[in-house]
Amino acid sequence: MFIAIDKDNNRVGIENADKTKEYFCPVCGEKLSIRAKESIAVKTHFTHTRNSKCVDDWNHDMSEWHFNWQRRFPTECREVVIEHNGIKHRADICIGNTIIEFQHSPLSSEEFKKRNEFYTNCGYKVVWVFDADEKIKNPYDEDNTLDPVKNRFNEFIWKRAKETFSKPIQNNVGIYLEYKTMLTLQDKRYENMIFNIMIPITQITPKSFKFFKTHVYIQPNNFLKDYGICSDEETMSATQIIQQTPRSLNGYKIQ
Ligand SMILES: [Zn+2]
Repeated sequence: MFIAIDKDNNRVGIENADKTKEYFCPVCGEKLSIRAKESIAVKTHFTHTRNSKCVDDWNHDMSEWHFNWQRRFPTECREVVIEHNGIKHRADICIGNTIIEFQHSPLSSEEFKKRNEFYTNCGYKVVWVFDADEKIKNPYDEDNTLDPVKNRFNEFIWKRAKETFSKPIQNNVGIYLEYKTMLTLQDKRYENMIFNIMIPITQITPKSFKFFKTHVYIQPNNFLKDYGICSDEETMSATQIIQQTPRSLNGYKIQ
């Protein structure tokens, strides 16, 4: 986890952790250690000892991508313990009546369903952001370097082996896929720049997605604006972009 409790009961982000101090799990209260060995897949994080009895048995990914998303939100919104009927889990982000989950590593359909059920039973709306970089491809083309936004189809295939989406998905669950692309823009200043684009999904079958083609690329700042995180007044929220997109552009309705 990236958030722990210190001995004075303060929430501390891993980026501010001091190795000489003691930290505890916000769910079970056990003492945590800091796992500092870094790789692309694993960022420095707080971890339980090997014989932990922590009740939060969900598999939280600790990738750099995950950390970079979480840290955009205020500490009090990150890894919030949600309790329902005596069961406790840590939500990546809890802000207002929304739980936001970031997922970089493969996720089984069972766990995806369990998390959605848990949070919707608690009365929250759930929004997922999946790291889809290099994990999607055009269903009509052998070309694996699909850019969904530039593509004339609004459908693509998930390349992952684990079928996260093979079970029906509840109402009140929204999904965005985020991937990196070089946009073809008129403005030369943006030439060869990599952008992170988020696509809102409208329909899912076990392996393919249909998505909402917006007239403006949705970027992380637009997404954050929905939650009052982006302070730039000029920036439109993702919801505004979706609402202002002519229906003829997509033919689908975002859920
Ligand atoms: Zn714990």
